[in-house]
Amino acid sequence: MPRITQADLQSYLDESLPPAEMAAVEAELRTRPDLLGQLAAINGRRDAGLHSVGEIWRRQRLSCPSRQQLGSHLLGALDEGQAAYIEFHLATIGCRYCHANLEDLRRQQQETADTVKTRRTKYFQSTAGHLRSKR
Ligand SMILES: [Zn+2]
Repeated sequence: MPRITQADLQSYLDESLPPAEMAAVEAELRTRPDLLGQLAAINGRRDAGLHSVGEIWRRQRLSCPSRQQLGSHLLGALDEGQAAYIEFHLATIGCRYCHANLEDLRRQQQETADTVKTRRTKYFQSTAGHLRSKR
């Protein structure tokens, strides 16, 4: 991460960055007192109750689709309107929280697919073995 923005720091406080970026911000914070100062300032404003609309939006994630909807979107199981909304949310708004969520779901689905494939291969191998031994 070459440059850390205020938005990054906000997301960092919300713990809504992908793990790699959380780690990158943390590493930067250790070596940059100015950044730490910015973070403290944001945190201070929050404590004082001075939330910007963007901050409230990010905190509450008002417009985020549910994890279930994201999962259905990955499977292509949503209707056009819902799919278009999620695409807009991800591509245009670029919601980091949902991107991270989607990435996680994608990995899970991939793992499930791999498990099924392995199981199927094993099943066919054992069936083939069984048939051979009967002859
Ligand atoms: Zn979102």
